[in-house]
Formats: sequence, C-alpha cells, structure tokens
Amino acid sequence: MKKAGIIRCLNTEAMCPGTSCFRVAKEGKACFSEVGPVEVIGHVTCGGCPGKEILPRALKMVEKGAEIIALSSCMVNKAPGGKYFSCPFLPQIKEMLESAIGDKVTIIYGTH
Ligand code: SF4
Repeated sequence: MKKAGIIRCLNTEAMCPGTSCFRVAKEGKACFSEVGPVEVIGHVTCGGCPGKEILPRALKMVEKGAEIIALSSCMVNKAPGGKYFSCPFLPQIKEMLESAIGDKVTIIYGTH
C-alpha cells in the first residue's frame, strides 16, 4: 500500500474534520482510484493564503515517506455538487508543487 499526504485548505479546517478524505483514501476510491488504497501519513493545511506553508509541508511529508501528495477537494472544488470553492491560488500552487516534487511523487488534485 502506498503512502499519501493530504494538504487541505486552512479556511475549511474549522468546518471539516477530513472524514471523507480519509475514507476515500483508505478505500482507494474517487480521486484515489488511480493509485488504489493508501495509508495517510499526514493531513496538513496549506498554512493560509496564498498557500504559504504548502511547499515545506509537502516536502516534510515526502521526507516522511509520502509517495503521493493529494490536494483535498476543498482546494480544487471536486466535491460532489460543487460544495466547495476553488482555491484562487491553485494555478501557482500547482506550478510550485509540480516543479519542486512532481518528479518524485504522484500529485493528485482532489480527494473525494
Ligand atoms: S491558499 Fe487556497 S487552500 Fe490555502 S487557505 Fe487560501 S484559499 Fe484555502
């Protein structure tokens, strides 16, 4: 089973414990269907706009064994019914993560 780290939006932290992210990760469903069931080794926030802690936190999770970094649905608006808004900084965040760790890990955009 591969290991994954999940990064979520700080703004949704107060209203969501991440239950659906953990469920689909364990089951290898929804956005995890391309990699199968995973062990979640970290579940962190972006650190606040404009994603100021994303890179160091992603790097730390890679250091701790993450083979997959998943940006949660609350960042990329992949929840059923468009429940969440998209992060306005997503294009820059994607570019930063792809250039820094895109050759080391699989990056998944969305969770459930
Ligand atoms: S940078 Fe994006 S993901 Fe992070 S708190 Fe701001 S809106 Fe949410």
